This record gives sequence, structure tokens and C-alpha cells, in this order.
Amino acid sequence: MDLTYTAAEEEFRSELRSWLQANIPEEWTRSGFWEALPEDESFRLRRDWEREKALAGFAGIQWPTEFGGRGGTPGMKAICDEESVRCQAPSTVNALGLTFLAPTVMAIGTDAQRKEIIGPMLRNEVIWCQGFSEPGAGSDLAALSCKGVRDGDDFVVNGQKVWTTNAMHGDKIFAMVRTEAGSEKHRGISMLLIDMDQPGVDARPLKQMSGASEFGEVFFTDARVPATDVLGDIGDGWRTAMLLLSYERGASGIAQYTEFRRQYDEIVDVARTLGRDQDPVVRGKLARVLTDLECLRLHAMYVLTQVELGRDLGFEASMTKLIWSEAFQDLWETFDDVLGADATLDALDGVDLTPLHAQSMWSRSVTIWGGSSQVQRNITAERVLGLPR
Ligand SMILES: Cc1cc2nc3c(=O)[nH]c(=O)nc-3n(C[C@H](O)[C@H](O)[C@H](O)COP(=O)(O)OP(=O)(O)OC[C@H]3O[C@@H](n4cnc5c(N)ncnc54)[C@H](O)[C@@H]3O)c2cc1C
Repeated sequence: MDLTYTAAEEEFRSELRSWLQANIPEEWTRSGFWEALPEDESFRLRRDWEREKALAGFAGIQWPTEFGGRGGTPGMKAICDEESVRCQAPSTVNALGLTFLAPTVMAIGTDAQRKEIIGPMLRNEVIWCQGFSEPGAGSDLAALSCKGVRDGDDFVVNGQKVWTTNAMHGDKIFAMVRTEAGSEKHRGISMLLIDMDQPGVDARPLKQMSGASEFGEVFFTDARVPATDVLGDIGDGWRTAMLLLSYERGASGIAQYTEFRRQYDEIVDVARTLGRDQDPVVRGKLARVLTDLECLRLHAMYVLTQVELGRDLGFEASMTKLIWSEAFQDLWETFDDVLGADATLDALDGVDLTPLHAQSMWSRSVTIWGGSSQVQRNITAERVLGLPR
């Protein structure tokens, strides 16, 4: 495991840090700023800011320059993620496109798709949604029933997607659709790139327990998609989806550690302010969470080293997902333990608890999306440890 960055990477860090410090308004870093904004306003601010960051050359860090990227190393990508968290930069509004769709298009898209998709995504001119989950298909994605029927040069799509992140702000959606009538399981599915701004697409918000609606449902009623907007081969969507999902195996653990560690310090501050830091049970929990976070940091360095050596972690990526998501959830469960019966209050002894509650509620979701913990344990048991099914 290599715990150091090169001189060129450190130079990149200072260049990026200077830009971030000069371009993040101070009020954006105040506790509760983003939570207090209306959702549309928050999305607009982040969309515009991220576009400026891309124009300044701090996006697509690891992407080849021919696609508008910076042609950097995995270490530079990790530094970019880490510095963004450290400087409290707003989170990306185009995560699903940037993480999943762009590298898949670079790998297997047509020249026209590469041209039309990658640049506009980098500049946030087009926000992408992911249309995989349906009411009857989540962990078991092959159970999906959304249908596409060929009609001349188009596919006509009918069906429903659910839990679609950014449904209310999305311009386009990469969706898994059954395009072969009568096909079952993973056969006969295509990945369609569907324009959401058309009469056949209806996005409706779903309200989460935090009050936010950062995801929603998407209904297709005779939505039209040109057959040229299939990513990969028609009927081979399963293979396209497996390739696309493999791009999650990145090196973002360092940034997660940096963010969770800052949140840990916030929780310790609250415990001190409320005089709960002397409770031996709370202290024990805080110590355990801190140990888990340090294990996450070391694991993230291990992953980054492997990626830099050009090794694909394959199914080991399931262990990474388990480690970070469960450490994050334990961290926020500890916050609830610090508050005890006061966990229902918005403010206590002058401390505004609302932004912290928002994080605590969000933490419930991370062991569900991107493959639930149970599913990750199955993959680890069967594919990494070779245990019987
Ligand atoms: C915040 C958030 C954002 C999301 N964004 C998107 C998005 O943008 N696009 C998208 O397509 N989807 C999105 N999802 C959906 C997410 O991918 C699914 O929720 C997830 O795949 C689980 O599917 P499900 O909810 O249908 O639960 P189910 O698959 O029905 O699972 C229910 C329970 O059964 C367990 N389970 C299921 N199968 C097994 C098994 N074989 N062995 C053991 N246990 C099992 C699960 O772990 C879970 O506890 C999002 C979800 C959340 C929470």
C-alpha cells in the first residue's frame, strides 16, 4: 500500500485548493446553509457553480483530454474529491451521469453519442438520471418490466421507474427497458437514453422522511426514443448495465473519510456542548466509530493503490461499499445516542440540530442504494470468499 502522492499530484492539490478557496462563498460553508434553501434554488446554485469549476479545468480529472477531461491520475482524482470535501464545496448535481454513464459512453458509445453526451454533461448542460429500479424490480433488477416496442426508427416506451434521483431536475435518463417481447430475466433488455422533456415522460416527486424530494417516480406513456439512442447493442442491455455499474469501483473513499471525519468532530462538539461527553457509554461508542473511520481511511488508501496499479478490484468493491456505508450509518446512530430522548428536538441549548438531523436521516439510505448491505454480503460471500450459495 502506497500512502504518498507524487510531487505533480501535490502541485495539482495546491492549484485546486486555491481555486476552491477563491470560488466558494463563505456563507455556503455555514452549518445549515444548504438545508435552509428551497430545493430548486439549491440545485440551480450547485449546477451553475459546478459548470464554472468544469470550465476552470477541474472536472473529468481522470478522463482523457479528447473528451474534455484533464487526463490526470487516480491520485489526482482522489485529491480532487478530498479537497472538495475539505473546502466544503457543494456536492455534484450530475453524479449518476459523471460516475456511470460517461465512462460507459467512452468505452462502448458510438462517436455521435460520445460527442453529444460527454461535453454537455461535464458542463452540466444536461443532467442525467438513472432509470433502473421499478416498483417490482430493485435488488432483482432482471425482474424489470418497463417495455420498449420498435416503431420505425424509434422505440416506444411504456412503464414506470422509481426512486429516480434528480427525477424533477433531470433532462435525460439512461433506462433499462425490455425491448424484446416475451423475454425473461436478463435477456432482451436494452439501455435506452431517453429525453425526459417530451409529453410521454411524467416525473413526479417522492417525499422523503427528511422532507426533501431528491428522488421521484418516472412514468413513460408512449415515450419515443430514436433507435440510435441505445447504448451498446440492442437486446444486450444487461452487459451494458454490468459495465456501467463496474465504474463505481473508484477511489472516492478518501473523500468519504474526510467528510465523515469532519462530521465526527461536529458530533463530538455537540456532545461536549450538551455535557454528554462524560457518559461512558457515549464515549465508548464514539471511540468505536472513530476506529471504524480510521479503518475506512486505510481501506481507501488500499483501494487507491490498487486502482493506481491498474488493478480492477472486481467483486471486492462490495466490501468497500459495506465498509463505508456501515461506518457512516454507525456514525449517525451515535449522534442519535448522544441526543438520547432529545433526538426529536430541532434545537437544544442553543445548538441548531436540524442540519445534523438531515444527515442522520440521509444515512439511513446509504445501505440501500447502490446495492443493499444484504446484497453486498451475498456477493462478498459467494464471489470473493467462494462460499456456497
Ligand atoms: C436515496 C436513494 C436513491 C436512489 N436512486 C436511484 C436511482 O437514481 N435510480 C435507480 O434506478 N434506483 C435508485 N434507488 C433505488 C435502489 O437502487 C433500490 O432501492 C435498491 O436496489 C433496493 O431495491 P428495493 O428498494 O426494490 O428493495 P428490495 O430489492 O425489494 O429489497 C428489500 C429488502 O430485501 C433485501 N434483499 C433483497 N434481495 C435479497 C437477497 N437476494 N438476499 C438477501 N436480502 C435481499 C434487501 O437488502 C432489502 O433489505 C435509490 C434508492 C435510494 C434509497
